[in-house]
Amino acid sequence: MKRYQQYIDGQWCDPRGGEWIETINPYSGEVWAQVPRGNSDDGEAAVKAARTAFREGPWSTMHPRERGELLRKLGDLIAENAEQLAAVEVRDNGKLMAEMLGQMNYLPQWYYYYGGLADKIEGAVLPIDKPDVMTYTRNEPLGVVVGITPWNSPLLLATWKLAPALAAGNTFILKPSEFTSASALELMKLVDQAGFPPGVINTVTGYGHEVGAALVEHRHVAKVAFTGGESGGRVIYQAAAANLKPVSLELGGKSPNIVFADANLDDAVKGAVSGIFAASGQTCLAGSRLLVERSIHDEFLEKLVAFASQAKLGDPADAATQVGPVTTPGQYQKVLDYIEIAKAEGARCVLGGGASAAMGGQFVEPTIFADVNNQMRIAQEEVFGPVLSVIPFEGEEEAIEIANDILYGLAAGIWTQNIRRAIKVSNALEAGTVWVNTYRAVSVMAPFGGYKLSGIGRENGIEAIKAYLQTKTVWISTAEETPNPFVMR
Ligand code: NAD
Repeated sequence: MKRYQQYIDGQWCDPRGGEWIETINPYSGEVWAQVPRGNSDDGEAAVKAARTAFREGPWSTMHPRERGELLRKLGDLIAENAEQLAAVEVRDNGKLMAEMLGQMNYLPQWYYYYGGLADKIEGAVLPIDKPDVMTYTRNEPLGVVVGITPWNSPLLLATWKLAPALAAGNTFILKPSEFTSASALELMKLVDQAGFPPGVINTVTGYGHEVGAALVEHRHVAKVAFTGGESGGRVIYQAAAANLKPVSLELGGKSPNIVFADANLDDAVKGAVSGIFAASGQTCLAGSRLLVERSIHDEFLEKLVAFASQAKLGDPADAATQVGPVTTPGQYQKVLDYIEIAKAEGARCVLGGGASAAMGGQFVEPTIFADVNNQMRIAQEEVFGPVLSVIPFEGEEEAIEIANDILYGLAAGIWTQNIRRAIKVSNALEAGTVWVNTYRAVSVMAPFGGYKLSGIGRENGIEAIKAYLQTKTVWISTAEETPNPFVMR
């Protein structure tokens, strides 16, 4: 069996506590590797290395253009190793090869995009309203950034933090999910090969409440960038508050996918399916509340059930598979529990409704509940599995009201052929991303993040790099003599 080591200060090392965590293939159930169970001593070593690299190492004196070149080199190495990285992801988190290979082939673009931005971080000379001074700003890095990521798209979500943080001149410690740490450690081999100076990028693995908490609480960590569940996000936000450090949070969602009667219904069926059954619903941006205009409700539901019932469950490594297993045993049980909750609440199950008898293992059938009321738990709480709630509505106003009547605000979909309606409704939706006549599209160039409980801050796009910078204002006197010292200038 494969046994991984952590990557700290440019060195491969065993966990200081001498313990490992077994990592399981969700499809086969086999333990295929062990990852280090890092503790606070490992966290301390990583912070020390990252801090030294930030303050003293070559990273601090390197021209931003050279930092950008290193990022682009890492992008090239990822491109060369995309298939192998995708295979590790599939084995470790059970997502489809088709999806993970697509992600890995696209991943280099983050390193190219932010690598290109590294030497374009400019300050400004201010047209200051005071005599005899020159005043300018510098955009400076924060220091040591910790990135904490979940199990559903491990390398993609790590990259959304790593690439802009490094381009801004910070050093970085990655703490991936304890369920899916292997791909992060594989990435470190490429980091090593790319030639980043020791300590610039480190990966420690282990449990959130152990090494994760130690990193968040560390006084020399300047920022925490987190993607994960709402409860973990709250704990991290509170812990970071002790040292008043900035935190960005990408949390969960319960996104509305709204089908108006004037939509192309066949397209909207595909949109509904991609919103919830792709990735077995294990995606923060899942369109798990399907709002359907009442006049087409029955016809649409029939089409949707007919389409979704054809979805092929199977081995995620098989190119023909459309729905894979649930990644973790805990998540599998949680999804099944929510299906029972929905039934008890009176929602009508029109497809699926339990574990897949044919597949066994951690497979849940694609499940659709009709007659869902937006106040039910199945409509308000994030399931993070292949379970769709269908909610009828009457007209634009009610659609907007139901869509926004939720604590989350990550994303939303609108299906209509009426451009006035598309713009009006998308303006009214409380969501960080709105898709019209499409769903589940992300890009390195498009800011992504949540309204309300779905998070704080944005990843991707030019604005993401600003989250890893701080502004310094420099005043230089040009006066012949220093004026009255008892009066503010
Ligand atoms: P999680 O919150 O349980 O864990 C995420 C990470 O946080 C893991 O690395 C974990 O070890 C760490 N962690 C947990 N407690 C911690 C603590 N006290 N201190 C430091 N680190 C801690 O989330 P998960 O179950 O792995 O992922 C699923 C969740 O992630 C879902 O709610 C989903 O919606 C959300 N998610 C959001 C996005 C987004 O971009 N908005 C993307 C993917 C997933």
